[in-house]
Amino acid sequence: LDRRIEVSNPHDELGHLAETLNRLIERLEDAVTEIRRFTADASHELRTPLAILRSEAESALRKSRSEEEYQATLRVVVDEATRLGTLADQLLLLSRQDAGLDAVLIDMVEIDPVLLDVAESLSLLADSRQVILQAQCNCNAAVAGNDIRLSQVFFNIIENAIKYSPLGSTVEIESEINEEHVRVMVRDHGAGIAPQHLTRVFERFYRVDPSRNRAIGGSGLGLSIAKSIVTSHGGTIEIESEEGNGTQVVVTLPKRDTSIRPEVPLKNAI
Ligand code: ADP
Repeated sequence: LDRRIEVSNPHDELGHLAETLNRLIERLEDAVTEIRRFTADASHELRTPLAILRSEAESALRKSRSEEEYQATLRVVVDEATRLGTLADQLLLLSRQDAGLDAVLIDMVEIDPVLLDVAESLSLLADSRQVILQAQCNCNAAVAGNDIRLSQVFFNIIENAIKYSPLGSTVEIESEINEEHVRVMVRDHGAGIAPQHLTRVFERFYRVDPSRNRAIGGSGLGLSIAKSIVTSHGGTIEIESEEGNGTQVVVTLPKRDTSIRPEVPLKNAI
């Protein structure tokens, strides 16, 4: 169904108006398509763990099991319930950000302590994969923002770097400042991402290898959440990767002068 308004003379005033309306219609249609795709993808992602939960519970009810078998079933149930919980949190965060309703406290956030805290919270995962986290955080600067949201950004990026790294490799985390910006770089020495995938990794639910990723545990939302938060902080996020040579993610955020610390933190929507 073509909803476009026909333009008899594109040069008169009515023609210009019709063109403007046509462009608006196109944008609205794109937005609706995007929302439909998001809803379909989200439903699909929710159905998978639910189907696993249901089949595990049904087969446990059908025949009696040994103690070990029950333990194994319960482990699957806990894993899938955790996956569902994380997914629900991620979907909620994205929809709040989309609606501009993610009202959080804005304050001066020192970037180095945030990076070190995130690295610490991921040290168990790193140990389990024998990945060495090397942090060189010398930026000694603050940005205006929300520390929980910014932690989430660096958590997603560093977690990816660890998850997609080979056993025994290193992940480097660096922060630096220039005149106006704080730059954070996270570099890994994993398999890297092929160019045709690299342009799409910030899309919601996009995964390079969905079957492999399910084992690693990703939903394909981590980088899109990171991008949404960084953008709402006035920053940028870029990814560079070479197959076989690893991946580097660079986050750039506008620097703030720490000497003008606000007396009362502002409540704001970012
Ligand atoms: P996920 O939760 O699946 O990790 P992300 O949005 O964080 O989702 O990442 C999207 C996809 O990009 C991942 O599924 C993975 O295929 C790829 N990816 C992200 N970071 C890296 C990395 N450091 N090395 C290799 N591949 C990566």
